Amino acid sequence: MSKWQRKIWALVIACVLTVAIVLSVVGLGKLTQPTVYLTALQTAAQDAGTINLDCHYSENNHTLAVKQVTTYRNHTNRSLSAVKFYLYANAYQKDARYPAVAKNEISRAYPNDFDAGYVKVTTPHTILGETDNTVVTVPLTKALSPEQSVDITLEYTIKLPNVKHRLGYTKNTVNLGNFYAIPVVYDNDWDIYPYSSNGDPFYNEAYNFDVTFHAPAGYIVAASGEQVGDNHYRGYLLRDFAIVLSRDFNVISRAVGDTMVNYYYLNDPIPEISLYTASNALAYFSGQFIDYPYSTLAVVQTDFLHGGMEYGALVYISLDVTDQLQYQTVIVHEIAHQWWYGLVGNNQNATAWIDEGLAEYSTAAFFEDHPQYGKTLTATAEDNLNTIKMFENIMDEYKVPYTRQMLLGLLGYKSSSEYTVNTYARGMLLFYNITTMVGHKNLNHALGKFAAAHCFQFGDSYTLISTLEAELGHDLINYINNYLAGKETPML
Ligand SMILES: [Zn+2]
Repeated sequence: MSKWQRKIWALVIACVLTVAIVLSVVGLGKLTQPTVYLTALQTAAQDAGTINLDCHYSENNHTLAVKQVTTYRNHTNRSLSAVKFYLYANAYQKDARYPAVAKNEISRAYPNDFDAGYVKVTTPHTILGETDNTVVTVPLTKALSPEQSVDITLEYTIKLPNVKHRLGYTKNTVNLGNFYAIPVVYDNDWDIYPYSSNGDPFYNEAYNFDVTFHAPAGYIVAASGEQVGDNHYRGYLLRDFAIVLSRDFNVISRAVGDTMVNYYYLNDPIPEISLYTASNALAYFSGQFIDYPYSTLAVVQTDFLHGGMEYGALVYISLDVTDQLQYQTVIVHEIAHQWWYGLVGNNQNATAWIDEGLAEYSTAAFFEDHPQYGKTLTATAEDNLNTIKMFENIMDEYKVPYTRQMLLGLLGYKSSSEYTVNTYARGMLLFYNITTMVGHKNLNHALGKFAAAHCFQFGDSYTLISTLEAELGHDLINYINNYLAGKETPML
């Protein structure tokens, strides 16, 4: 290198250093900082749609004003000219054909007589209709090709009913379950189902959520997602996003691995035990099936007509459950749904036996492996068999026809007892009988494989049966199909 070349190089290096110093001072140096690594959940979430909600709750008139922006991805193989969403608040309107609450439960559900709930959509060019106006259709200005995304804005105001239900308020709590506009699943067409007072009439894809929630001062907010700022919550790949409000919540928490379990309660004589049960259930199912992927789990005691209700990373436990063992059982059952309904979705309208049968079986397996509760797997199976026998004896006595079919769909069952017997009791026994062949640990392991294969997606009867056959090395298809068709008398 000549003297001149050395001088030129020295000049170049000096210039580069000067530019680097200037850039770092003015902030552009940030570009060279290492990238923030995404968690496994955030990485998996990148392909999912996103729902942004900006919510304002008014206590005086019990209304919730929502501005929703959905980043909708067309996962179908055809071009779409419109997108449909459920707005379930209209299932609470007066004279609904498919009401949220069955006629014979109105007095128990409504503390102050029937009170209507409904929703008003203010976004122009949208069409509210179908099954009690629970579906809003949003025409797209430009056809949406497969795998393309579009941002859809919807503004609406929900009048909450005064009811102990998924969506409603009481003097104790405000339940906001299934409140926002939920994208309808598209298989060969839009899968529209009417609401049903039997079971959980839902079939949801997993979405990412970014939620701003404004409540009047003094409210404690339990939400599906993690709190990331003032009034700001975020969740990834959740099957639903639910919120419960109360001025009176006590909150205790316990860490389980990377998850914080938060127990919101109003009246529990043994809150530490309830939190312990919830934490143990989360740890047990994570160990037996697949890891719970979310950073929080909210267990929320609230006014609710039934024992409990499952949402993404949040469960309702009813204030009406006063028996201590039953209360702990509801906690475990609802947490089991985080795997069966939550991580592995299913069409709960058509195959409730999957999520309820598996939640009941998983709960019984939890108790089998936690003898301190004094409830063995076999004892739970016997209880279920007795429930079925009692139901059938009473129906026979009064000469009322009934079904043993497990695949009728929610509206195919004539009463809540007929639905419960066929999905919960018969569902649990279906899985229990498999444990008598292979043992519950092996069944749990096979269910873990099923969960891993369909996590954040959907499972169905076929994929469940074929996974169990492959993992357990037993020919189960005839046994299960006969059982689902009601042709096999439950045995122990
Ligand atoms: Zn359940």
